[in-house]
Amino acid sequence: MLMKKDWEKKKKIKNSNYPGWSAALITIIMFAVIFAAMIVNVFMFQSKDRSVVYTNSYNHDRMDIIKTRISRGTIYAADGSVLAKSVEDDEGNEIREYPYGEVFAHPVGFCQKGVMGIERDMQPYLMSTGISISEQLDNAMNDKKNPGNNVYTTLNPKLQEAAFKGLGDKTGAIIVTEAKTGKILAMASTPCFDPNEIESKWDEISKDEDNSPLLNRASQGLYPPGSTFKILTAAEFIREYPKDWRNYTFSCSGKFTFGDESVSCFHGSVHGDVDLSTSFAKSCNSSFANIGTELNRKKFAQMLADMKFNEKLPVEFESSISRIYWDVDMKDKDMLQISIGQSRTMMSPLHLNMITQAVANDGEMLCPYLTERVENANGQIIADYKTTSLGNVLDKNEADVMHELMREVVVSGTGDDLNNRSYTVSGKTGSAEISDSSTLSHAWFTGYAPAEDPEIVITVIIEKGGSGGAVAAPIAGEVLDVYFEGGSEE
Ligand SMILES: [Zn+2]
Repeated sequence: MLMKKDWEKKKKIKNSNYPGWSAALITIIMFAVIFAAMIVNVFMFQSKDRSVVYTNSYNHDRMDIIKTRISRGTIYAADGSVLAKSVEDDEGNEIREYPYGEVFAHPVGFCQKGVMGIERDMQPYLMSTGISISEQLDNAMNDKKNPGNNVYTTLNPKLQEAAFKGLGDKTGAIIVTEAKTGKILAMASTPCFDPNEIESKWDEISKDEDNSPLLNRASQGLYPPGSTFKILTAAEFIREYPKDWRNYTFSCSGKFTFGDESVSCFHGSVHGDVDLSTSFAKSCNSSFANIGTELNRKKFAQMLADMKFNEKLPVEFESSISRIYWDVDMKDKDMLQISIGQSRTMMSPLHLNMITQAVANDGEMLCPYLTERVENANGQIIADYKTTSLGNVLDKNEADVMHELMREVVVSGTGDDLNNRSYTVSGKTGSAEISDSSTLSHAWFTGYAPAEDPEIVITVIIEKGGSGGAVAAPIAGEVLDVYFEGGSEE
């Protein structure tokens, strides 16, 4: 092997203070904390007034007044389909209607019994009017409410429906973004709830801690990344050995032992002689554990920081911070586990999608966003949102090699369910083991298509779904089929 140990003493990524805890326990605690925080939030809004909600721009009393004067604006999909609108009930009271029911529940949210999603993030626009003063005067004379501004999202109903259907009765999340802009085309999470029933079934929905239906698992869920983390380990290896990585060889006996610690390849596989590409395509844990123990910890820490671990993602909606435990004094056995995505590392599907998008986009990471523009009731633009670069997290050479490695996963590796379709896919599977060996792994797939000129990036997690290649990749395929072929009609 061509590397030597070069452990440096400076730590860039802080110790997250949970050494020794199992990933499963951390998952449960994270979810419990997020869930509790959400409920507290929602109840704080409720305690003042059942229907009045809070944003940074409005206090409760002002909202009461505003609601008598403004009819909350409409939320649209990118194609103009209505996702949320204000209608009158039989008594003439304004109520909110969500034509797609559960399908858009997490990204669009709701505005009764508290406020979530786009309903919350865009509330200052939805609950103010951009029409002219003379129109407002006319409305006042005729005792009419002013129309709130309308929000046009980046969401694509066909892809959102495909994602929601793909998840079915499983627990998990799918996020689909546009490779060259960062627009979020679909964001689905299950178990779900129907925002039309938020008022009538509130107790049932808000107290269901087993399923946490209010949790948007796509952006707030945190999971061990499993083998999808090998994207980062491979990228760091290429960064440290830009000329020599092609000479890497390893002989996999199904198990890699380092001191008194060992890791095994998934389901007892023995991969034999592998190079970097084969190690990645077949997801050889032994080979990646070997690579991990030899990487420069200071440099790897810097890459992980650049990739936005241990910091709040700069998105304008609720998201959880991906955590990685890092300490230069950690034992080698921790590096074995970290480099194959086990250990204590926890990531959100949104964050993994951003990293995948950066590969797809030749190294430049873009900020994911949900709102395209805001218009007043006459169709004049009040605000519009553009692509924001988060910088080049990989250089061109690194991204080129990652394209090659991720393509091979689909052509000859664990993602081959997505091979031989009418479009080309590159990606990485993951089967993140949970410490309780009686339960199935979390199944991951993250990737992009077409391989040669990426248009969309998709990340799928199925909790306790089993293997990423067998469970998550086919679901990604269902969504990609709809994007590239319009999907199969039933
Ligand atoms: Zn192996």
